[in-house]
Amino acid sequence: MNVIADNIEQIRERIKKAALDRGRSPENVRLVAVTKTVSPEQIRKAAEAGLDCFGENYIQEADKKIKALADIGVSWHFIGHLQSNKAKYAVRLFDLIHSVDSLKLAKELNRQASGHGKIQKILIQVNLAGEQTKSGAGKQAAVELISDIARLENLSVQGLMTLPPFFDAPETVRPYFRQLADLRDEIAAKNIANVKMAELSMGMTGDFETAIEEGATLVRIGTAIFGERS
Ligand SMILES: *Cc1c(COP(=O)(O)O)cnc(C)c1O
Repeated sequence: MNVIADNIEQIRERIKKAALDRGRSPENVRLVAVTKTVSPEQIRKAAEAGLDCFGENYIQEADKKIKALADIGVSWHFIGHLQSNKAKYAVRLFDLIHSVDSLKLAKELNRQASGHGKIQKILIQVNLAGEQTKSGAGKQAAVELISDIARLENLSVQGLMTLPPFFDAPETVRPYFRQLADLRDEIAAKNIANVKMAELSMGMTGDFETAIEEGATLVRIGTAIFGERS
């Protein structure tokens, strides 16, 4: 077995254990393999090992790789910061965009999706710690943003995403995962038409088990699959 297949096997086991420990079904946690800086050859190996969902951070890099890998038939997610002027490409390339954090961006995605005859699935990125250096809407802003986006016919909100402040200790991050889950419940309780709150995108190599314990449905894992990025 190659290293990538071996890593995937181990991560799958860890995902399964974390889910079962909390009485959750492992099938409700989807592994998004994060492939920024990863070559198409390595991505192909991961697909051969059974992965069907990949996450990219940069439009230009993703465009090349997605074209080179058109034959493998996997789902691509956008997880990086998205500028409105790249919305057109994002709509063409990705099944799910995890990082919508402003009405300006949402309107442009809606416009492009409409021109493309597509209902674009999106997540709202929430910046829970109010970090200046990170993208994402604050909690209150996220709630307002979702009410506004609900009126955009070619967008479909599926849930929330967060990138918590980086700590080495997963226990330090746990309160942020819990806050995102609480916010999801709060928004779901509003029963906003055209808004689903099914997905929670949270958890990376260093903390995905904690994220799963707190309700993650999408874990975004790069390093543990492909090794350290150069
Ligand atoms: C790079 C990246 C990840 C993956 O991080 P790892 O620690 O390598 O698993 C997850 N989410 C986002 C938004 C990223 O940019």
